[in-house]
Amino acid sequence: MENNRRPRTLITGGAGFLGSHLCDRFIAEGHDVIAMDNLITGSVDNISHLAGHPNFKFVKHDVSNYIFIDGPLDYILHFASPASPIDYLKIPIQTLKVGSLGTHNALGLAKAKNARILIASTSEVYGDPLIHPQTEDYWGNVNPVGFRGCYDEAKRFAEAITMAYNRYHQVQTRIVRIFNTYGPRMRLDDGRVLPAFVGQALRGEDLSVFGDGSQTRSFCYVSDLVDGIFRLLMSDEQEPTNVGNPDEITILQFAEEVLRLTGSKSKIAYKPLPQDDPKVRQPDITKARKVLGWQPKIDRSEGLKLTLEYFKKRV
Ligand code: UDP
Repeated sequence: MENNRRPRTLITGGAGFLGSHLCDRFIAEGHDVIAMDNLITGSVDNISHLAGHPNFKFVKHDVSNYIFIDGPLDYILHFASPASPIDYLKIPIQTLKVGSLGTHNALGLAKAKNARILIASTSEVYGDPLIHPQTEDYWGNVNPVGFRGCYDEAKRFAEAITMAYNRYHQVQTRIVRIFNTYGPRMRLDDGRVLPAFVGQALRGEDLSVFGDGSQTRSFCYVSDLVDGIFRLLMSDEQEPTNVGNPDEITILQFAEEVLRLTGSKSKIAYKPLPQDDPKVRQPDITKARKVLGWQPKIDRSEGLKLTLEYFKKRV
């Protein structure tokens, strides 16, 4: 309790995949939660189970415009942003605005309310990395003018302005660098590799492997990620912190894993590799282990089974 009342927490992007899971976690922790979302990539379906909950409120708003919240606020989690390559290719300007203007507004609100704020950053700040696995002190290898630049540079700006508010205005800030995450409430059509492959396998379509499939990713189950974020918010760590699962796999091996798991007879169809697609990605989570006492608990086979149950009902 903060001053004999429940902590009050704003989650921007609260109707999105990660945002909605954060709403669940913070309500379970006894917070009053305000979810804010413009529903461009989020959906009220992700929070419909919270409708009417006495500690939950939804506000439809685009946080790239001034954010008005009545009353006190203790925590802000700034998660509003398109996060799938096909989304930010379709809406690059909104992506840049929410990462820059939206982050500025969220920081201004944190300053006005004396709230602690956590910003969702990304492994994309490392770009196509030349250091592997990626440690927090790596500055990255980003093409600012490529198709991914709108997302990568918006998030890099978001980190920079967050540190400026921390140093110049003494706002309590946290920055999480999120690596590939999956689980229920991902959109089947969001274009990311996991929903794409699972959807294709369940529909009996060929699995679209981009390039030769030798590029790697490391997938974290959503409940592990949410736990890392909660711990980071409550910690004293102000520098960016990687949260993700270091279990790395090539995209081709991942396609084969999805075929095995679903028992699908689909084949693999090779498609052109998108521009600037990172060749490798694996979080170094030494810092999260040490500072947050955190590490992922759900391995890919367990997480995929849980996610498959969700997708089966939606294909
Ligand atoms: N990918 C793929 N087929 C798809 C979608 C993605 O082979 O239908 C590849 C993509 O080229 C990338 C990896 O899977 O190397 C992960 O892509 P995703 O869009 O999930 O996110 P990213 O990690 O690139 O941001």
